[in-house]
Amino acid sequence: MNIILLGPPGAGKGTQARYLVEERGMVQLSTGDMLREAKDSGTQMGKVVADVMARGALVTDEIVIGLIREKLETVQASGFIFDGFPRTLAQADALADLLAAEGQKLDAVIEMRVDDAALVARITARSTCGACGEVYNDQTKPIPADGTCSSCGATAFKRRADDNEASLKTRLMEYYKQTSPLIGYYYAKGLLSRVDGLGDIGAVQAEMRAVLDGVAPKAHGAAQGIEPVA
Ligand code: ADP
Ligand code: ADP
Ligand code: ZN
Repeated sequence: MNIILLGPPGAGKGTQARYLVEERGMVQLSTGDMLREAKDSGTQMGKVVADVMARGALVTDEIVIGLIREKLETVQASGFIFDGFPRTLAQADALADLLAAEGQKLDAVIEMRVDDAALVARITARSTCGACGEVYNDQTKPIPADGTCSSCGATAFKRRADDNEASLKTRLMEYYKQTSPLIGYYYAKGLLSRVDGLGDIGAVQAEMRAVLDGVAPKAHGAAQGIEPVA
């Protein structure tokens, strides 16, 4: 099963993707993580994207599509979770082509809905484990009191340079301008489901499970009764 997690920065995509990896053995493909790796290792591409990412603007379609193409051609998985990709209609079209080339298809797109007001609070309180990438939050999921990662025991944590209010403003604007049209695009294809991303982490996880197990009605009513278009 191949799925997309769609939602604004801070919606909880990375957090939920990690649960799906654990529970279902799926492989998470986060273009944000791939770009940060390129930046940290100082590759030519990393240098090109560093400034764009710091501002919260979008990296070119060509670069991110190239990253996803390489993964799809080289990684074998029972299912992929696309986290933070696609972010434009061109990326969405490219993904369909890339999956088709591998004899695969997209099975579901889960839109995680969260109020903008909650996003600022979430993003400015986010940190991640430097070793395993476990996602923490000063308010809602604090690092254990002994200072060790609950997932891997490491003791070094990172905050993202772009997790500040100024960059978030740009990222949100990009989301509404460039990415939110994908909601209609996937709705029309009959692939869209929605979860309420405002619940606590466990509640969101339960809703995601229900959607993926096919227990929850597809797209919560909105898309019911329309035929998927090819
Ligand atoms: P995204 O990948 O969509 O940008 P993250 O999964 O990194 O989002 O989550 C952003 C921040 O919000 C993190 O600090 C995370 O711990 C926290 N968070 C994620 N899901 C929830 C939730 N359901 N309730 C409260 N905080 C959450
Ligand atoms: P968030 O946690 O805010 O949803 P990500 O980690 O997915 O953010 O992405 C961080 C940054 O990397 C984005 O602000 C953007 O600059 C770049 N980026 C990640 N994925 C894409 C993509 N699919 N298209 C263009 N730029 C991307
Ligand atoms: Zn860890």
